[in-house]
Amino acid sequence: MNFDDTPEEAAYRAEARAWLEQHARPRGEDTHQRGGLSDAYSEEEAHHVKEAKEWQATLADHGWAGITWPEEYGGRGGTSLQQRVFLQEQAKFDAPAGVFAQGIGMAGPTIIAHGTEQQKERFLRPMLRGDEVWCQLFSEPGAGSDLAGLQTRAIRDGDEFVVNGQKVWTSSAHYSDWGILLARTDPDVPKHRGITYFLLDMRSPGIEIRPIKQITGTAHFNEVFLTDVRIPAENVVGEVNGGWACTMTTLTNERTLIAGGGGDTFGELLSFARRFGGTDDPVVRQALASVYMRVEVLKYLGWRSQTALSQGRPPGPESSVAKLGYSALLEQLGDVGVAIAGPYGTLLPDNDDELRSWNQRLLNQWSARIGGGTDQVQRNIIGERVLGLPGDVRVDKGVPFNQLPK
Ligand SMILES: Cc1cc2nc3c(=O)[nH]c(=O)nc-3n(C[C@H](O)[C@H](O)[C@H](O)COP(=O)(O)OP(=O)(O)OC[C@H]3O[C@@H](n4cnc5c(N)ncnc54)[C@H](O)[C@@H]3O)c2cc1C
Repeated sequence: MNFDDTPEEAAYRAEARAWLEQHARPRGEDTHQRGGLSDAYSEEEAHHVKEAKEWQATLADHGWAGITWPEEYGGRGGTSLQQRVFLQEQAKFDAPAGVFAQGIGMAGPTIIAHGTEQQKERFLRPMLRGDEVWCQLFSEPGAGSDLAGLQTRAIRDGDEFVVNGQKVWTSSAHYSDWGILLARTDPDVPKHRGITYFLLDMRSPGIEIRPIKQITGTAHFNEVFLTDVRIPAENVVGEVNGGWACTMTTLTNERTLIAGGGGDTFGELLSFARRFGGTDDPVVRQALASVYMRVEVLKYLGWRSQTALSQGRPPGPESSVAKLGYSALLEQLGDVGVAIAGPYGTLLPDNDDELRSWNQRLLNQWSARIGGGTDQVQRNIIGERVLGLPGDVRVDKGVPFNQLPK
């Protein structure tokens, strides 16, 4: 592992930092995790989306959006390491994040890898500039961890496909322009082989979006009902019935995205503990030390894969455990933060963003522990692909989808 930037990386970091200092808002002591828990949530959300679009356009106009994307589609043609360096520097500023995760982070790389030239021309630039927001229509009431068991049907009708079914947990569907959609196009073959990957205009007739109110009080995701929705055949990504390969590209990018969360989490927790006089309490000190160790372990894990990228090697097993480690950190942070506040941890005062943000972290910890593959599923992946343990029992292997019990 190498802790130091190479001279080229240091120069890139300095360039990124200088640009951010000129264009981004500094991160102040009053910068707390936003969102949730207030009646004005939808207004706050609309404001956040607007700010995020403005910031994304600024990034794109100055060549900092899509650092790893090809230049011909508006990217910078850089390396994954350069992207990581930029994100590390950006995290030190108050830059709005999250709105473009499904688009730039997941749909974009999938279109680049599997899309037609026409799809790349049409979709990539508006996505990168934040002009079009995307959502991910994968999960269904009966298909989450077992995503390939999805039942939404798409039937070909001339130059179009007609789609019927239901999706659920669709983050941001209520303000998205486009969605990546998985639907079953051949039920006569084993489940992974009959799925097609579509690009769906979210304003198509037949789409009904119903928000789901969460434990946090917000409605970040939705149920999406699809009734006779027509999608032009030119919006199929990859091969008809070959959507699983594209899905893998999307899901790998999703995991990496979630594992890459962070910021100065320990510093924020420490200052919160100081505010409540907790740093003299031996139990709180022990909890702080435990969080500190976890943050440090994750930092070194990140540096390991950063070193691999820097030396032109693909990241090894450490990136597979990063998502699981990050979700465990969020669980611990939420629990410790609210415990530090004692009875105040149950309050949601409108005039105290810091207290609200820790309450939000407690309730929101399940996002990362479930989304992008649950903790249990991550453990299965690590067990099978990293440790080489025997695989999960798969009774549906090789059985045509329409012969599986539903
Ligand atoms: C904040 C958030 C945002 C999301 N956004 C989106 C989105 O935008 N688009 C989208 O399509 N989906 C989204 N999801 C859905 C997410 O991908 C699914 O919730 C997730 O894959 C789990 O599926 P499930 O909810 O159906 O749970 P299930 O798969 O039914 O799992 C239930 C329980 O069983 C366990 N389990 C299941 N299979 C196994 C196994 N083989 N071995 C051991 N344990 C197992 C799970 O770990 C879990 O504890 C989001 C979820 C969250 C939390």
